[in-house]
Amino acid sequence: MDPAPRDLVDLPRDPELGLPVPFMCGTEGFGGARDGSPPTLRRLDGRRVTQCALSRVCGVCGSTLGRPVAFVGTEIEQARNAFHAAPLHVACADSLRGWLDGLDGPLIGQDAADVAASAWVTVTTSGFEFVRASSEDLDRRPTFQPNSLST
Ligand SMILES: [Zn+2]
Repeated sequence: MDPAPRDLVDLPRDPELGLPVPFMCGTEGFGGARDGSPPTLRRLDGRRVTQCALSRVCGVCGSTLGRPVAFVGTEIEQARNAFHAAPLHVACADSLRGWLDGLDGPLIGQDAADVAASAWVTVTTSGFEFVRASSEDLDRRPTFQPNSLST
């Protein structure tokens, strides 16, 4: 049984976009920046993403994950089987896709060029590896690698 997600209306609002800010994107004063800027759908909060990975909680609603889990990312990430955004409930992934639809510029940790060049995809899997970047990697952020894709 999938645990019930927390009510998404309780999420903070992105003041620029007017949309809910997923759990993995941070809280007031820690929207990926330590400068006190408000939380935003545009960035990922690395601490929150790691918390989602280690505690197996949803990157949108923040409650415990069941199976399958969903990842939302770009076609580029899908091709690499390496996602930057945290694992999600399938229903929360659907909500997130609805928020991302039609937006441009940097979003959920993707830069503007990748958002412009690629469509959003959702993949579901029963499991994933959380892969920390090695010191040689250009992109030092950890990734999630789904290991048993379902359709
Ligand atoms: Zn959720």
